[in-house]
Amino acid sequence: MKSLIILGSTGSIGTQALEVARRDGYRVTALAAGSNEELLEKQAREFKVKAVAVFNESAAKELKIKLNDTDIKVLSGADGVCEIASGEGDIVLNSIVGIAGLRPTLAAIEAGKTIALANKETLVTGGEIVNSKAQEKGVKILPVDSEHSAIFQSLQGAPEKSLKKILLTASGGPFYGKTRKDLENVTVKEALNHPNWSMGAKITIDSATLMNKGLEVIEAVHLFGLPAKDIEVLVHRQSILHSGVELSDGAVIAQLGTPDMRLPIQYALTYPERSDYAFERLSLTDIGTLTFEKPDTDTFRCLPLCIAAINQGGLAPTAVNGANEEAVRLFLEGKIKFLKIADLVEKAFLAVQNKKDFCLDDILETDRLAREGVRKSIK
Ligand code: NDP
Repeated sequence: MKSLIILGSTGSIGTQALEVARRDGYRVTALAAGSNEELLEKQAREFKVKAVAVFNESAAKELKIKLNDTDIKVLSGADGVCEIASGEGDIVLNSIVGIAGLRPTLAAIEAGKTIALANKETLVTGGEIVNSKAQEKGVKILPVDSEHSAIFQSLQGAPEKSLKKILLTASGGPFYGKTRKDLENVTVKEALNHPNWSMGAKITIDSATLMNKGLEVIEAVHLFGLPAKDIEVLVHRQSILHSGVELSDGAVIAQLGTPDMRLPIQYALTYPERSDYAFERLSLTDIGTLTFEKPDTDTFRCLPLCIAAINQGGLAPTAVNGANEEAVRLFLEGKIKFLKIADLVEKAFLAVQNKKDFCLDDILETDRLAREGVRKSIK
């Protein structure tokens, strides 16, 4: 049985990954989280892990005291999270939220681990360096994001170079069908009310703005090697067809299932095998109708902004991602209005000091500048 390291274990994906691990009997060797030391303590004890890391220093101190009666090593800060990512374990499932996941992914690749990647911001910001490092180390990156898992599953058995087009589905989020006027005064509660998926706060807001779909276009470019023009975004309200591919002969192959992240998590862990157990089986007759529409990119401007960013390439995706992370934080804190998020993302895109050849430090600096730009422009 493979052993697992789970980064972001206290979050929505992390807790579901532990559910899969518990059910299928995986050995979990190490865990990491941002600041929720209470849940991390419970998880560490249940799975009898060897080490844990908490990004927040004072939460790490608390956890160290709580785990005093065990042999579990407690690390802290970004370096501690990277140490966890490169420690004992076969697969690193990265479900940290935001660009904070980038360095741990790189550390895990450096250590030769298989990567099960939920943290899309890793590829959005560091796609080029992550892919070249993974190639150099012979490391597999297995997508956990449901759409990318669906694309990956649809490609199993397809000849290399037969991929012509990606069909990337989107639920449309809680504000599907709304006009800009309707969105002027929407509340945080309304934006967090996703129709089909229960997820962490940041990705739920990203789903409401369609930034999430934009980030996923960028993620798909890096995972599957097609330009953005060959990735068609389709609004599919039922979230049953999780995405698909069109091959050179015109065949369209897609993966369908109930909206449940445990299947893509499980597939990333069992790949290339499949587990015998399904959490919930799909009944197409119960669903009845599947619908597909073009997204409204005039109202939901984050999607075309992400496409413009990946078309420009270089550091532009990092700038839009950093501005979005900061803007979403401010929206969740009630400091800016919903529509302001796209304005701030656009501003960061227009301001980015781009370059073709860049390294990790350039990415981190671009992220810092984009966040700073957002904070300054709301003062
Ligand atoms: P959550 O907000 O629920 O969880 C985020 C996790 O990251 C938590 O465990 C959090 O710890 C941890 N974390 C935050 N900052 C740091 C840090 N600096 N160092 C280490 N750990 C940190 O997010 P989700 O689970 O919803 O999403 C995680 C990732 O997966 C995102 O990139 C998202 O886009 C992607 N994803 C999520 C899906 C979903 O269904 N939720 C679907 C597809 C992709 P703490 O709890 O202590 O704050």
